[in-house]
Amino acid sequence: MAVDNKTQFESALLRRLHSLLLQIGDLEGQLARGPRQIKAGEGVVQASQETLDQAKQAVKAATLACDEKQLQLKSREDRIEGLKAKLNTASSNKEFDLLKEQIAADEQANSVQSDEIFEGLERIDELQEAVAVAERELAEKTAEHKKRVEAVENRMVVVQADLDHVRNELAKAEAEVPAAARSEYKRLTEGRGDEALAPIEDDSCGGCNQTLTTQMVDRVRLGFLTHCPACSSWLYLP
Ligand SMILES: [Zn+2]
Repeated sequence: MAVDNKTQFESALLRRLHSLLLQIGDLEGQLARGPRQIKAGEGVVQASQETLDQAKQAVKAATLACDEKQLQLKSREDRIEGLKAKLNTASSNKEFDLLKEQIAADEQANSVQSDEIFEGLERIDELQEAVAVAERELAEKTAEHKKRVEAVENRMVVVQADLDHVRNELAKAEAEVPAAARSEYKRLTEGRGDEALAPIEDDSCGGCNQTLTTQMVDRVRLGFLTHCPACSSWLYLP
């Protein structure tokens, strides 16, 4: 290790540094979560919008199909009128019967068509109700999302202020790091963040659970800078 193993280091300072590094890690995590929460909310609104678009599309398609059926009904009615007019001028019984058959067939077809149109209109009513439900849902989700964004943004301001404060405190604490250890402290914390330091817990490293020798624990107790032999964290008393 680059650090002179005689370097004295107060556990209290390492404890404070570790606590501040942990707080910074936590606050940075909260800052990173904010945009993800907003993005997730946008996804919910987007899904509601798509549901509404599909519901509107279904009404449009059902209306078109129903309009088409009504046009067919009307044109068949016109044809029936035409056939009825020809009945009076039929030149033979055979032609008369043929006309009668055509009229009966068209009327039968229109009777079926009328039922289908009636069902189609009922279906359109249901689909329009689904559009209304989807519109309410979208309005709800949009309002919820607006609130969520406000809450997240407000919290981010607080978290950022806390982070600035803790970083400031960290800079003060780091100024107390003994000069002989400073460059290694920088190297360790820049690479590993709060994992650069670990408390001794039940004679083990709190970072990696490596069991420590009595000599190591004693060295830490005496204030000598000591690395965990397994994970290289600087050890301190909790
Ligand atoms: Zn360790």
